Amino acid sequence: MKFSYKILLCSIITMAVSFGIGGYFFVNDVFRASLEREIGQAADDSSILKFAFETAALNIPSKYDMLQNAVVEEIGANLENKGQGTKRLLRLSDENRAALYVSEGFVGDSALLMEIGEQTRAYQIIHTDEHYYVQTGVMVDALNRMLYLETMRDVTEVYAERSRGFAVYRGLTILLLILSSVFMYFISYWLTKPIRLLTRATRRMTAGDYSYRAEQISSDEMGQLTLDFNHMSRVVEENIHKLEDEIRAREDFIAAFSHELKTPLTAVIGYADLLRSRKLDDEKHFLSANYIYTEGKRLESMSLRLLDIIVTKRYRHDPQNIDVKVLFEYLRDMYAEKKGFRFHIDYESCRICAEADLIKTVLLNLTDNACKASDQGSQIEITGIRKENGYLFAVKDHGTGIPEEECKKITEAFYMVDKSRSRSHNGAGLGLALCSEILKLHGSELMIESALDVGSCFSFLLPDRGGIHNETDGQKESGDTGYGPADTDNIHSGSGTAGAL
Ligand code: ADP
Repeated sequence: MKFSYKILLCSIITMAVSFGIGGYFFVNDVFRASLEREIGQAADDSSILKFAFETAALNIPSKYDMLQNAVVEEIGANLENKGQGTKRLLRLSDENRAALYVSEGFVGDSALLMEIGEQTRAYQIIHTDEHYYVQTGVMVDALNRMLYLETMRDVTEVYAERSRGFAVYRGLTILLLILSSVFMYFISYWLTKPIRLLTRATRRMTAGDYSYRAEQISSDEMGQLTLDFNHMSRVVEENIHKLEDEIRAREDFIAAFSHELKTPLTAVIGYADLLRSRKLDDEKHFLSANYIYTEGKRLESMSLRLLDIIVTKRYRHDPQNIDVKVLFEYLRDMYAEKKGFRFHIDYESCRICAEADLIKTVLLNLTDNACKASDQGSQIEITGIRKENGYLFAVKDHGTGIPEEECKKITEAFYMVDKSRSRSHNGAGLGLALCSEILKLHGSELMIESALDVGSCFSFLLPDRGGIHNETDGQKESGDTGYGPADTDNIHSGSGTAGAL
């Protein structure tokens, strides 16, 4: 059964019960008041008759000291006919409670006679087939005789009125119930509207329409429930989109991975087949073996990079307070021997909270990429600047640059802008993905600023987590890198792109 029908049914039952009980008590109350009034009048009548009888007994001339039965009958008949328009119903009984005079139609039983005393008046309700009466009884003292006088007053109308009252109330109750049922139908329909809207929203969501929201039409508990439901839908929608993105990234990753695996493997299999199937001259033999070796190395470096990324993702970050000098001097040593480039290393001394080995890996990758993208003799600038909210590292080159639309993708695993150039450098498009993972661990991300045929600047800001301190001694002069990594307009950030791993 629908919830709105349940509300309707409950309210109809409640109304029926309350109308019924209320009506019963109301009609009965009116009836009791009317009956008491009738009993009071019956008692008054009885008193009047008693005095009338006593007066009549005194006025009748008698030759006896005692009232005679015949006189009693005569007075009784007289009193019976002195009613206003109607005949009175009375019964006169002697000291032994034997009837002396009984009106025609007097139906009262004799049980009441036993209860009448000298000082006590008695009454009872008598019910015959069609009528209700109030029977009263009183003692009459007349000419040395104590007689019993009983009267009957017809109260059928009071009972009929009660029945009429019940009938009217029943009709009224039915009418009110019909009217209030119609009214309650609309009220329950209106009350349950938020539930219907929520049900519709749930069904739409189940059917895959995650952007559907339930309309909020009230500000009560149901309105709050709608708000909470919509909030939950928003979270579910976000999570589902996130999952979809993750699945897409995973699929892209698998496709790229298999592609990257296929290229060197094809070369390895091809040259190995050539070597085993034909006798080659020394030079061709060397070239084939060399191909197998270089492609094998590429596979090895790719698998090591992948391993690095996976390890970084599962790595328990343990940052330490380190001097940036350690990082820059390490780079200076690393590239001191590298010919063909002019390295310009410039940094502000400072202590930062980071894992030295991981940040070294990032800086090495960025510097290697800068070398790969630059022509011989070009300058590569590696800088470190202390910022208000952290420490900014930047590696800037004057190489090929990256097209703007590619900047967002180059941190994805296996993404290479110039595939042949990258492969010729043993690259597999995994270096920046690894950098992104490492920076994510440090609460940072890679910012890329590049202009085609002008150069690129890769930078990242290690946030101040309370571990950055000024190194008072040995502070160096520093300048902006030129591409302005501090000026964050036009900077592409590339974080979390190795998520498929
Ligand atoms: P790889 O290991 O192939 O170098 P990376 O993830 O480090 O892979 O880089 C992804 C791609 O981004 C590279 O293939 C290259 O095309 C491009 N790239 C990275 N750094 C630079 C740079 N400084 N200048 C131009 N292109 C770059």
